[in-house]
Amino acid sequence: MPRPKKDIEKNNKDATTKSGRGRKKELATVTGMKDILPQDQAYWQKVRAVAQKAADDYGYGLLETPILEMTDLFVRGVGKQTDIVDKEMFAFTDQGGDNLCLRPEATAAAVRAYIQHGMLNQSQPVKFFYAGPMFRHEKPQSGRSRQFYQFGFEAIGEIHPALDAQLILLGWSCLNELGLESTVQLNSIGCPECREKYKQELIKYYKSHSKQLCESCKKRLLKNPMRILDCKEEGCRALRDEAPQILDYLDEECKKHFMKVLEYLDEINLPYVVNPYVVRGLDYYTRTIFEYWSNDDEVGKSALGGGGRYDGLVEILGGREATPAVGLAMGMDRIIAKMREKNILVPEMKYDIFVAQLGEPAKKKAMALYERLRSIEDLHPAQAFYKDNLKSQLEVANKLKVKFTLILGQKEIGDGTILLRDMDGGIQEVINFNDIEEEIRTRIKKYRTSKIVSLASGDEDELSDKKAKRKNREEDGIVAGEEDDQEHEVIEAEEHYDDLMGGEDSF
Ligand code: AMP
Repeated sequence: MPRPKKDIEKNNKDATTKSGRGRKKELATVTGMKDILPQDQAYWQKVRAVAQKAADDYGYGLLETPILEMTDLFVRGVGKQTDIVDKEMFAFTDQGGDNLCLRPEATAAAVRAYIQHGMLNQSQPVKFFYAGPMFRHEKPQSGRSRQFYQFGFEAIGEIHPALDAQLILLGWSCLNELGLESTVQLNSIGCPECREKYKQELIKYYKSHSKQLCESCKKRLLKNPMRILDCKEEGCRALRDEAPQILDYLDEECKKHFMKVLEYLDEINLPYVVNPYVVRGLDYYTRTIFEYWSNDDEVGKSALGGGGRYDGLVEILGGREATPAVGLAMGMDRIIAKMREKNILVPEMKYDIFVAQLGEPAKKKAMALYERLRSIEDLHPAQAFYKDNLKSQLEVANKLKVKFTLILGQKEIGDGTILLRDMDGGIQEVINFNDIEEEIRTRIKKYRTSKIVSLASGDEDELSDKKAKRKNREEDGIVAGEEDDQEHEVIEAEEHYDDLMGGEDSF
C-alpha cells in the first residue's frame, strides 16, 4: 500500500536542507549524517589500519555484526533508563512486525554474537575487534553526529585485572600511534551490590540540594543518579565536590580488583588519573570504567573513547552463566577531527608511474601493460586511458606527481620499445618493451632509496633553499614559475615525441 503523502513529506524533512536564497536542496544527507569523500579517506584508512594492527598484535579477531539488531537487545543490554535507549535509538517496526533498530553501539551486539554462536565453549577470553558505523538520534553538534564511527575491542570470558589494564593500554596506544596525546580517566563503579548502596547515598545527598540541579539532572535523580556526576552544567558541577564518592563504597573484592588495575598501569607508565566523576552512561558497566581525554580537553567535553568491564551483560542477554568481560570503543570521527585540528598529516596514496599512450593500437597495448604493472607488488601505476591526447595525459601525470611516465606510440610498437620519461628532469629514454617490468622495479627502488637517503642526510636544507629561491623569484615578480615550467616541459615532450614519431600526427 503506498504511504500517505504527508508521511513521506515528514520523513523527507530531515533530508531537505535549505541552501542560498531559501532555495531547497532536495535529497541531501539526513541531518547529523555525512558522506566521507575520497579525499578524506586517507585519515579513515590510517585510523582503521592502526586499530587493525593493535587488534592483530593482541589477538583480537574481527567481528562484523549486522547494522540492524532487535531493539530489545539494547533495551535489555544498555538499559531502558539510559539516554541511548530512552531518547536516541533509530527504532522502527519492519514490514514483518519485528521491532528493530540501527545499532547505537557494538558491545551488546558482540555479546549477542558470543552467546548465539556458543562461544562460551571456546577457550576464554574470546576477543573481538570491530569497526563500523553506529547510530544515535542526538542533537547534532561539534563532535556529535547521528551516524558516527567507532572501532573497539571486547574480551569476553575473563575477570583478570591484567585484561582491564591491557585494554586500557590498547586504546591509549592507538591514539598515541596516531599522534594524539591523551590521558586515561579511570574509575571503578564496583559491582551492583556496592553500587546500590552508593546510589542510595547519592540520591539522599542530591535530594537535599535538588534546587541547585539543572532540569536534566532533576530527572536523572530519579532515573540514573550517577549521571549527575557527569553533568557539565556549572551548578551541578559545583555540587559534586561534596557528593559521596563511589570509591569509598567498593567492597573488598572490587577494591582489590581496582588496585591491581592501577598497579599494572603504573608498571607500564601509562598516563592516567583516577577520576571519581567519570561514570559512563550505560547500565551494563561494572567495576573498572575509563575514558580517553585529549590532553587539551580538561573537562572531557569530547572524549575520544571509553569503555569498561561489563561482568553481568552475558547473563542479562541470556547467557548460561555469569561471564566477566571488558571492552572499549573509540570514536573515529572525533579522533580524525582532533588529528586535523593538530595538523597531523597522514600519507596520501602515491602513484609511482604513469602509463601514457598515443593512437588506438598503443592504447590497447598500454591497457594490457598497465595490468602487468599493477600486479607488481608495492608498485602503484596510474593511467588516463580515456584520454587520447598526449599533452593532457602528461598533465594528469604531473598532477599525480609520478616520478616516471611510460609513453607508448605507433613507432614504439613497431620497434618493440617504449619511452621512459623522468618527470623531474624531462629526460626520455628508449627502453626495450620486454624489459619494462625489470627496468621499472630497479628504477623505483633506486628512487625510493635516494629519497630516504636524501631525507636522512638533511636534504631539508636543499628543500628550504629551493623554497627560499622560489620566494625570492616571487618577490621579484616572477610568479607561478613552476606552472610555466610544467607547461613548457609538456610541450617539449610532445615535440620530442613528434620527432621520434617522424613528425607523424597521430593525436
Ligand atoms: P560511548 O561508549 O557512548 O562513550 O562512545 C564511545 C566514543 O564514541 C565516545 O568517546 C566518542 O568518541 C564516540 N561517540 C559517541 N557518541 C558519538 C556521537 N554521537 N558522535 C560522534 N562520536 C560519538
